[in-house]
Amino acid sequence: MNKFFFLPLLVLFLFSGCVNKKSYKSNTKVPKNVILLISDGTGLSQISAAYYYKNSEVNYSRFEHIGLITTHSSKEYIPDSAASGTAFSTGEKTYNGGIGILEDSTTVENIIEMASKKGVKAGIVATSSITHATPASFYAHVVDRDYEQKIALQLSNSEIDYFAGGGKKFFKNRLDNNNLYEVLKSNGFGIDTLGLTTFDVIKSHKKQGFLLSDDGMPKMIEGRGDFLSKATLLGIDFLHQNNTPFFLMSEGSQIDWAGHDNDTDYLISELIDFDETIGRVLDFAEQDGETLVIVTSDHETGGFTLAGENYTTKDGNIYSSYTTLDPKFSTGGHSATLIPVFAYGPGAELFFGIYDNTDIFHKIIKLTAWNKK
Ligand code: MG
Ligand code: ZN
Repeated sequence: MNKFFFLPLLVLFLFSGCVNKKSYKSNTKVPKNVILLISDGTGLSQISAAYYYKNSEVNYSRFEHIGLITTHSSKEYIPDSAASGTAFSTGEKTYNGGIGILEDSTTVENIIEMASKKGVKAGIVATSSITHATPASFYAHVVDRDYEQKIALQLSNSEIDYFAGGGKKFFKNRLDNNNLYEVLKSNGFGIDTLGLTTFDVIKSHKKQGFLLSDDGMPKMIEGRGDFLSKATLLGIDFLHQNNTPFFLMSEGSQIDWAGHDNDTDYLISELIDFDETIGRVLDFAEQDGETLVIVTSDHETGGFTLAGENYTTKDGNIYSSYTTLDPKFSTGGHSATLIPVFAYGPGAELFFGIYDNTDIFHKIIKLTAWNKK
């Protein structure tokens, strides 16, 4: 998959020119529902890779409102997923590793705690453990993202109505010997640890959780299949029963892990899976007409770039090809590059421009007034 040649590129561009962009048509400017799709560790080069390596329509092309965010934490130029997740969920900056707290460790209310008081149902989906930094930012308050047993306990007693991801070990094999499955059940959760089911199976439950692997979910290249899009759509069905308003955060967690591994095949397969999820969510939002969809990332990982393949001429000089791609990485960590934001639905035009990652929260709140008593 590493090499990409010029001829199929032309074919792909011709194909992508046929993408049918559906403009959002409605008088309402107030979204009833908000879906936030986060692709962890995804900068513009990762997204660009979809245009060269995906063999079907790239769903990023369906957005008309696009912006950029700065992502620094309260202390560092380069953020981690905890600081960035907290920026999205609370509108506040914190240090790398902090979740749902300010820099001085004070707890700060997150969007789900606000919205649930107004009858908004809330869900989270991730391809990591459900206790990992990004999803945890939407329900937990801890001074260190590594406290995943503590985070699991906080999830069990949170306002979350639906979750799907990995992380069984943080609920079952605990230092405090608590069995959090029992805590979850006593809080109204139906819990499934074998596989995703259907809406008919879960619709009578007050809440629903799927814990489907010990820690992170399998990689796409190891056969995860369509878990992310299926879990996201099932979450929409469950939360939106009887037309109830909802907030859903769904994360393609492992684009970041592929970036840390500097593994192009891993990265591109995870990115394509995320793009497929974008497509299914936009299909729903087009039908629904009252749902704001925001797609963004917490930071870039790997310093990924769609460089040309190096070649050596007869006289020993090294050149970079302009006809054959050979993606490269510049770091095993995160980077500080600006991150794209894509928005669709009522209020999407508010996400145009260049702003800070904390403004994602402030813009959602401005549109929904979920913070008002
Ligand atoms: Mg993450
Ligand atoms: Zn990372």
